Amino acid sequence: MPKITDHAGMRIGYLQKTSLIEYPGKISAVVFTQGCNFRCPYCHNPELVDPSRFTPPLDIQDIFSFLETRRGRCDAVTITGGEPCMQAGLLSFIKEVKEMGYLVKLDTNGSFPEVLFEATMSGLVDYIAMDVKAPLSRYEETVRITCDPAAVEESIGIVMRSGLPYEFRTTMVKGLLNLEDFKAIGCMIKGARHYILQRFVVSKHLDERFAQAGSFAEEEISSIADMLIGFVGRLSVR
Ligand code: SF4
Repeated sequence: MPKITDHAGMRIGYLQKTSLIEYPGKISAVVFTQGCNFRCPYCHNPELVDPSRFTPPLDIQDIFSFLETRRGRCDAVTITGGEPCMQAGLLSFIKEVKEMGYLVKLDTNGSFPEVLFEATMSGLVDYIAMDVKAPLSRYEETVRITCDPAAVEESIGIVMRSGLPYEFRTTMVKGLLNLEDFKAIGCMIKGARHYILQRFVVSKHLDERFAQAGSFAEEEISSIADMLIGFVGRLSVR
């Protein structure tokens, strides 16, 4: 069995044993951390964001035991949330996952640039997916909490300079973002390797009123994609 180091403060709410889509081109297990500093109203993981909906966290030892059984059959571990970078035990957790031979993909909202910097500089992470929620001027309004948008800007720079494969992504919620906002986001990530426009899908949401939020029409999505295509190396819509 692997040696368990200091994972104090690492709260994992859910483990998806296999995913073929979370880590591009790899078979990955997906670890969902509990807790997020943002309150995006359209969030479809409210049970990982709202503390009143938290279930008892999983035993870390059980997760490592599971990963032990998957060696050679699973390529990677995706760490998502919630917001993984607010977990005190994140880096030691990743270190141990790496020592087991897994690739690691880290999903983040970009509000903890110091953690992101350390994770990328220390070679602990192999792939980064970072949300860019809105133009900086509209960040707090979008994520519904007082925050420092400059931290997100700093994280964009860290990701782009990291030398790692990465993607930025924005959920397209018609009630929150308009054409000008997408143009401003394009300027923020100009020169990025890969940008993903994510269609808003009605499901469960942190703010259930957002179940009624309008999705952009396909023609609008095409126009936004056309407008942004020159800003980034690769643009995807999903
Ligand atoms: S969408 Fe992501 S950043 Fe926003 S509240 Fe949900 S988990 Fe947090």
